[in-house]
Amino acid sequence: HADTAMYEAKKDGRNTMHFYRQELAEAVKKRVYLESALRIAIANNELTLNFQPKVSLKSNEIVGAEALVRWTHEDKPISPAEFIPVAEESGLILKLGDWVFEQACLQMQRWKKDERFKTLRYIAVNVSPLQFNQRDFVDRVSQIVSTTGIDPQAVEIELTEGVFMENVERSKQKMSELKAKGLRFAVDDFGTGYSSLVYLKQLPVDILKVDQAFVRDLAVDPNDASIVRTVLAMAQSLGMEAVAEGVESQDHIDFLKAEGCQYFQGYYFSKPLSEEEFTRLVEKHNLETQNPTETC
Ligand code: C2E
Ligand code: MG
Ligand code: MG
Ligand code: MG
Repeated sequence: HADTAMYEAKKDGRNTMHFYRQELAEAVKKRVYLESALRIAIANNELTLNFQPKVSLKSNEIVGAEALVRWTHEDKPISPAEFIPVAEESGLILKLGDWVFEQACLQMQRWKKDERFKTLRYIAVNVSPLQFNQRDFVDRVSQIVSTTGIDPQAVEIELTEGVFMENVERSKQKMSELKAKGLRFAVDDFGTGYSSLVYLKQLPVDILKVDQAFVRDLAVDPNDASIVRTVLAMAQSLGMEAVAEGVESQDHIDFLKAEGCQYFQGYYFSKPLSEEEFTRLVEKHNLETQNPTETC
């Protein structure tokens, strides 16, 4: 009935303002509500993490896992695309981000002690611009790394290009300090942000994650195919690893392999999973890859 409301509003120009004001009021109310619900969820420890495998296109091994935060509110999952922006605007992202970082490291520690996970080398954590641009970001991360006892070389921090806009020199400084401890940096959603190349050559980036928007249609859209090819070539010549995101088909795999991409993530292999599901997937994958079916 939003359509009806729109129609009514259009019928009478004088009501239009009233209509939009109402819409705006609804949106504001929803945002205020989400913010307070999220605040409570964080305090009550109601967030969880899912993990999406990162797979080697060469060896077919699960080499890493990306931690992705999940929130189920009143029995409904709310997408990070909806609540991460709320968390950013309200500053809640700082608490949320620390929690995610710590939990991800603790999870990786559990996996590291488990023989079944011996191919798993990296845990990747998404860090938002507000988090990264905090003055004490390096200290916060160092603190979490040392209290969880995780090997810093097992930690990858995913940043989006927008992060570097604020201050390239300072970004470089922070990244260098953490890199000196052994952490690695990935640029997430690469190709969708601003002035990628200017920043890229100045910053100590280890990994480029090709945005799923370019991967999705690469088998049918020659422009997307060219973009992916170019990003892969660039990663290679800059000495960075490339990870393709959003891989959903064998066509994608074939293309990426042929173009020299090293790693991928995507529904084709697995969607993000709970800890238990991830463990089951690893067990199944180990059986398939370590005991290739042989006939006597
Ligand atoms: P992202 O870091 O680029 O994560 C990839 C997103 O793509 C995830 O959505 C994942 O579920 C989805 N995805 C993975 N494979 C496929 C595929 O084959 N096809 C399609 N269509 N989608 C795929 P999700 O979990 O909803 O997260 C969305 C975004 O929210 C993330 O994008 C990230 O920017 C942000 N986010 C998630 N967790 C966190 C977090 O803990 N902290 C911060 N700061 N941001 C987070
Ligand atoms: Mg990511
Ligand atoms: Mg991404
Ligand atoms: Mg994204």
